[in-house]
Amino acid sequence: MNTFTIIFLIALLLSYGVQFWLSGRQKSHVMAHRDQVPQAFRDKVPLAAHQKAADYTIEKSKLGDIDSGVGALFLLLLTLGGGISLVFDFWSTMDLTSMQADLLSVASIFFLMTLVEIPFSLYQTFVIEDKYGFNKNTLPQFAKDQLISMGLTLGIGLPILALILWVMDSIGSLWWLYAWLIILSFSLLMSWLFPTLIAPLFNKFTPMQDGSLKERIQSLLQRCGFNSNGIFIMDGSRRSGHGNAYFTGLGNNKRIVFFDTLVNSLDEEELEAVLAHELGHFKCKHVIKMLIASSAMTLISFAVLGFLITQDWFFDGLGVSTHSNAAALLLFMLVSPVFTTFMQPISAYFQRKFEFEADEFATRNAQGGKMISGLVKLYEENANTLTPDPIYSAFHYSHPPAAIRIAHIEEKMQSA
Ligand SMILES: [Zn+2]
Repeated sequence: MNTFTIIFLIALLLSYGVQFWLSGRQKSHVMAHRDQVPQAFRDKVPLAAHQKAADYTIEKSKLGDIDSGVGALFLLLLTLGGGISLVFDFWSTMDLTSMQADLLSVASIFFLMTLVEIPFSLYQTFVIEDKYGFNKNTLPQFAKDQLISMGLTLGIGLPILALILWVMDSIGSLWWLYAWLIILSFSLLMSWLFPTLIAPLFNKFTPMQDGSLKERIQSLLQRCGFNSNGIFIMDGSRRSGHGNAYFTGLGNNKRIVFFDTLVNSLDEEELEAVLAHELGHFKCKHVIKMLIASSAMTLISFAVLGFLITQDWFFDGLGVSTHSNAAALLLFMLVSPVFTTFMQPISAYFQRKFEFEADEFATRNAQGGKMISGLVKLYEENANTLTPDPIYSAFHYSHPPAAIRIAHIEEKMQSA
């Protein structure tokens, strides 16, 4: 057996083994703390809501276990099982140019992967979310969303893929540098266009109406010296009862978006605090830092791929007989997550550090107490567990666990 096959199998087993172990820890930790609301939340969150969050967390986690198990099996089937070779061979027997055959092969495999994921999305939405009262989605709406996403992936993804394959074929050994520049410019363009072009395909965005909330928000924006291209309410309630707020866009195309569900459940001062937190992410340069980090990662990935593509063991070790640029690109996209799982705690750590900084910014520019009461409401209404396993959350959580986060805000309020 090829040495790289053994390395791949060990990495796959380890990464899924670690995920299952963490998820098992999370489930038993949540279960063990199900009977009592943690001390810090006792007068804020009723026991029934705490137990609902525990059951919801455990049920989602069980589905996630099956989903990642199926994902691992499917990856094995595509690689060592010969699936990728089969698809490439099939399209190469058709009367097509090699570019057309490559594009169709990659598209077919992504299509198959989407098909495998659909039952899990259906179960998550129409069984779990429904049971806990979050689901507002309907089957026709779900089908429509899937079709629009697929259409977008094909309409935007295929031309970009064709461009990158062309660069790989015609530029020579430094192709990966050009490919990186293409991806970088494309992702900047997409972030800039997303709020006005893509997001409205899925949701309706209504400018926030004049009134005390808008005035409050505008004065916050002014205080923080922030320019935006409008404050919008999104009809999130069309699909789900979960609430959120976010910033989107780049440069002069920045928008502030509140889910209607959030506006309905928080009071004005809480909304101001939540928005101040989001502003903190901009003011503390988190958005730029994340962009730089992710483009550096993409550059490293392309450089690694630039090397792997010249190595026969890379293809043979992963069970792929077609030694083409398209096959290498596809293999790399499918297989690299197996090796990068172990970097997840590092990125999660930095994300949590950013959350603390944004909370601190919110405490300085809005009311810390309102940030806390808003957070507690969000935790309760989204049925997020207040008692995650410490190792699981260190590995996975992009936000600090509720108790730690609130203690940090209280500390900042006292020192202010
Ligand atoms: Zn944040």
